[in-house]
Amino acid sequence: MSKSLQAIRGMNDILPEQTPLWRYFESTVARLLDNYGYKQIRMPIVEFTELFKRSIGEVTDIVEKEMYTFEDRNGDSLTLRPEGTAACVRAVLEHGITGGGQTQKLWYIGPMFRHERPQKGRYRQFHQIGCEVFNLDGPDIDAELIVLTWRLWGQLGIRDAVKLELNSLGTSESRGRYREALVEFLSAHLDKLDEDSQRRLKTNPLRVLDTKNADTQAILVDAPKMADYLDDESRTHFEGLKARLDAAGIPYVINPKLVRGLDYYSKTVFEWVTDKLGAQGTVCAGGRYDGLVEQMGGKPTTGVGFAMGIERLILLLETLEQIPEEISRQVDVYLCAFGEAAELAGLALSEQLRDQLPSLRLLVNAGAGSFKSQFKKADKSGALYALILGDDELAQQVVSVKPLRGQGEQQSIAFDALAAHLATCIVQG
Ligand code: ATP
Ligand code: MG
Repeated sequence: MSKSLQAIRGMNDILPEQTPLWRYFESTVARLLDNYGYKQIRMPIVEFTELFKRSIGEVTDIVEKEMYTFEDRNGDSLTLRPEGTAACVRAVLEHGITGGGQTQKLWYIGPMFRHERPQKGRYRQFHQIGCEVFNLDGPDIDAELIVLTWRLWGQLGIRDAVKLELNSLGTSESRGRYREALVEFLSAHLDKLDEDSQRRLKTNPLRVLDTKNADTQAILVDAPKMADYLDDESRTHFEGLKARLDAAGIPYVINPKLVRGLDYYSKTVFEWVTDKLGAQGTVCAGGRYDGLVEQMGGKPTTGVGFAMGIERLILLLETLEQIPEEISRQVDVYLCAFGEAAELAGLALSEQLRDQLPSLRLLVNAGAGSFKSQFKKADKSGALYALILGDDELAQQVVSVKPLRGQGEQQSIAFDALAAHLATCIVQG
């Protein structure tokens, strides 16, 4: 195939054999969020570039080198969203739905775009489900967000494979004091830092903390600790969160080097990580961003949220073989009809069955075909039963119901008893 007819590198098709698992995952999360009273919001995929520069921060990896930015026909600079929080904040401000201190518990789902090096668990178009909560400033809501993801891991059967890492970045004042101390310390070791860290020391010093370079990591052992610079308010908030996680029985580890790649975080930050996916081990990440709304032109409004990477969680479900049985079967019954008269009767009968059994997954053979070929298709569809309609059946107004998965004998069932019969033998997932 010529290159121009291929998908863009790092942007994947999700093929029919994969979509059942995606839909299972998405519906599990959606039901959970409904249960916790979160409401869905849908934002555009494209925003003004300025929105991301202002919210995510000019000197972050995302804004410096990962955004898909282009000019539209008016000459405006637009960007495919690299994450959901910025657009969500823009939307709540634009529609005034957090005004006057109104609380909002929101969630979104959709594709995000970052020009990164594609590899397992890292793509240029990927999908996130995220939550954002506005105007609730206590640790109880930070805890709720973590508790609900913990419940989700339980429902998905992956709880044992993920670990919670927590940190507090403090308020912007205490972070500022810490940044100064860190810069002073690192400047004294400047010549021993890797090149990337030397650059970050000038632009975004906290990011030096999550360097992958072993020499720099060795120097960081003696660096000042963020915990020693936390203001009282942040410390109390962090203690409150930990107490709630303890009460809920959720294990966690404090990771003092957890800083996150986006500039807008304050106080709580957290990540759910797994060691089952190689280098791309963070499946869900978030934190508090109490200053962001104001920074984007709104009245002071606290915020806290997270985003989970759907591709990584799907990979984890596959790796752990936590794929529920019911999603592997897409068809309940397959109707085979032989001859024009049987096809006509079959069409009427199948529409009647769809009225009577609204959740029945009924595949009607298309394209006629011999007995052998229709059976082959019925079997391949994964159906539990084949419904057979030929001249003999028509003459007696019955359908032959043939089990395809070794569950008993073939039976003749009268047309008007068919729905009741199928209802008893098909357990739907
Ligand atoms: P990473 O450290 O893996 O680059 P990040 O800190 O950039 O992640 P966030 O911006 O916090 O990630 O996004 C939240 C989640 O979205 C991540 O934890 C991950 O599961 C997922 N994610 C982020 N970038 C990608 C990507 N390029 N491909 C697939 N999933 C991604
Ligand atoms: Mg990243």
